[in-house]
Amino acid sequence: MALPKYIFVTGGVSSSLGKGILAASLAKLLQARGYSVTIQKFDPYINVDPGTMNPYEHGECYVTDDGAETDLDLGHYERFLNISTSRANNVTTGQIYKHVIERERKGDFHGKTVQVIPHITDEIKVRFQKLALKNEYDIIITEIGGTVGDIESLPYIEALRQFRYERKGDALVVHLTYIPFLKGAGELKTKPTQHSVKTLMEAGVQADILVCRTEYPIPEEMRKKLALFCNVEQKAVIEAIDTDTIYEVPLLIQEEKLDEVTLEMLKMPFNEAPKLEKWKKFLHNLKNPTQEVKIAVIGKYTELPDAYKSIRESFIHAGASKSTKVNTDYISSENITKDNSVELLSGYDGVLVAPGFGERGIEGKINAIKYLREQKIPFFGICLGMQCAAIEFARNVLGYSDAHTSEVNSKSEHLVIDIMEEQKSITNLGGTLRLGAHPCEIKAETLASEIYGVNMIMERHRHRYEFNSKYQDAFNDNGMITSGINPVNKLVEIIELKPEIHPFFIGVQYHPELRSTVKNPHPIFSAFIEAALNYKNK
Ligand code: GLN
Repeated sequence: MALPKYIFVTGGVSSSLGKGILAASLAKLLQARGYSVTIQKFDPYINVDPGTMNPYEHGECYVTDDGAETDLDLGHYERFLNISTSRANNVTTGQIYKHVIERERKGDFHGKTVQVIPHITDEIKVRFQKLALKNEYDIIITEIGGTVGDIESLPYIEALRQFRYERKGDALVVHLTYIPFLKGAGELKTKPTQHSVKTLMEAGVQADILVCRTEYPIPEEMRKKLALFCNVEQKAVIEAIDTDTIYEVPLLIQEEKLDEVTLEMLKMPFNEAPKLEKWKKFLHNLKNPTQEVKIAVIGKYTELPDAYKSIRESFIHAGASKSTKVNTDYISSENITKDNSVELLSGYDGVLVAPGFGERGIEGKINAIKYLREQKIPFFGICLGMQCAAIEFARNVLGYSDAHTSEVNSKSEHLVIDIMEEQKSITNLGGTLRLGAHPCEIKAETLASEIYGVNMIMERHRHRYEFNSKYQDAFNDNGMITSGINPVNKLVEIIELKPEIHPFFIGVQYHPELRSTVKNPHPIFSAFIEAALNYKNK
């Protein structure tokens, strides 16, 4: 395979303009034209990975198949492209410095003074090209986190300057910027964009393409002006107008010919129109639902939309596949008591209990699940949500009133959720979480087997505690089936109530939301929506 071409996406004027969505959308168009594309994100913060960052700070932590805890933008890449990303797709300043300092300690630099230029920038350039070693990609898109002008981003921009100089013709810079509308003046303004392009130029990098986020259409005259002031061709001034859904962005930028301009500049052929029929069908279904359901998501990070990003998107994928509008309300588990579950939850067609860590809000989740189990309302528990379902069942059906998880009360006599013996040794080595894709064998004639239609699956994990295998018999004998088992370590991965007890009650130890894409909505989310529709129409 020929050497890949590189596209770098930088951001100007403001954060949160959607560099991740732009990168994913451009990648989608190039993929739809037959090119093999991947995307990687370089984050300028000093944390080694976002695994230890509070969801309030950084939104959801997205876990890849190979067990890396990464930025949530990787979720967009996977959902748009239907590809699987890896550890190499997310690089942070912390990782770069850690690596360079470790090499320095080993004497790899032979007594030289170790500096940002060239040592840090060399390491950045190595990582720019790491995915090329896989020999799989025609195009590698690199999203540079942060906004140009930030002190933290400087080494990346410098590495980009060098890389472009070394690989003339093979690397393109797409700069995402913002054109604000000033109400008082009644006008769109280009000045912030001019400044951000200039800031980039001061660092030696000329943007090739400008993608302009805007609330209103950008008039022809203004495009001319932007081209003139920013040193780009007029056809390379691309409008990115606000939309209701991120899934519309690929089509909008295609109308603006971003894909054609990009390929022309990279001297890559593009005869065919992009194949986007499936994408368009998905979008049509999304925008023209024929029915709707009301779903509650119970968690503790309810004020922050990004904390449950993948769950939100999974509902969109599965909903569209059933032409169903999924209306979701996020309910704080801390507010749910034994007495108010009816009031808070009775209006919903289905309830998802979300993943989480720590004690806060856990009793509320357990209270809610008791109500959902007794009222036969469709229930879907993910990770901590599944663990809470096990605790609730142990307390209220098996009669172990003190049942708990050792995460909250390790003194309980009935630790139905615990750290397993074989995991303890791992804990001591410091790798405290079970991360990444693991196999799971599904028992025949269960809800899980009906949902998946196969008997062996791979799903991604991110948790420390496990269903305590010693309670398996008690659960199975009383109607809660352990329907998915890890074939390697025999850990329980799925629990479900028998159909004669409950129409849809399933908890999974893994994170199905991390594998839902536009092309392949996750089967459990689809089945859950189906169950909610049935509940509603009953
Ligand atoms: N806190 C639980 C554990 O560590 C669940 C984690 C999660 O929901 N991701 O096992």
